[in-house]
Amino acid sequence: MRIVLFGPPGAGKGTQAKRLIDTLKVPQISTGDILRAAKAEGTPMGKKAAEFMDAGKLVPDEVVIGIIDERTQKDDCQSGFMLDGFPRTIPQAEALGAMLKGRDQGIDHVVSLEVDDGVLVQRLTRRRSCPECGAIYHLDFSPPKTEGKCDQEGAALMHRADDQEEAIRERLNVFHGQTSPLKDFYKQAGLLREVDGAGAPDAVFSNVTQALGV
Ligand code: AMP
Repeated sequence: MRIVLFGPPGAGKGTQAKRLIDTLKVPQISTGDILRAAKAEGTPMGKKAAEFMDAGKLVPDEVVIGIIDERTQKDDCQSGFMLDGFPRTIPQAEALGAMLKGRDQGIDHVVSLEVDDGVLVQRLTRRRSCPECGAIYHLDFSPPKTEGKCDQEGAALMHRADDQEEAIRERLNVFHGQTSPLKDFYKQAGLLREVDGAGAPDAVFSNVTQALGV
């Protein structure tokens, strides 16, 4: 199965992807995670991407398209993959379609997590994550057992640079301007599955699995 998890920042794409990969046995491919790792390693791509990411802007299409082209050709993607945070623009979606067509493949479902802006801001400002294992916490709804520390690794939790209020506002603007037109793009292709993403992770997961029929 080849799936796109679609939605605004804070919609729960990462949280749902981590649950779905256990059910579907396909890898999660998050362009945000790949770019953050490149930034942390200080690679040339990471340095270039950091300027855009910290300001809440999109990294240029050719960079993320290149990442996805390379990553989806790896062996673990033979029986499918789950894209989290890609595509985010029409040119990215077109490039993805062309890339898969060239391999006699296609996307099966685009799951769109629907959440209002007010809820998103509330989620993002209180979100913390583990830099080692990627676990995601919310200070009010799913806090770690020990304050500031990951339950799994004990690593110090981080507050992403782009989860500060100004960058959040910019990311929501970018979503409404550049990314949300993709919903029509995939609706016309008959691939869009709209899912209520406003509830707790368990409730949203059950909406997602129902929409996918898994
Ligand atoms: P995310 O973790 O998906 O919220 O992504 C964090 C940041 O990485 C975004 O705000 C962008 O700066 C960058 N990014 C991730 N995926 C993409 C993409 N598909 N296109 C452009 N920029 C991206």
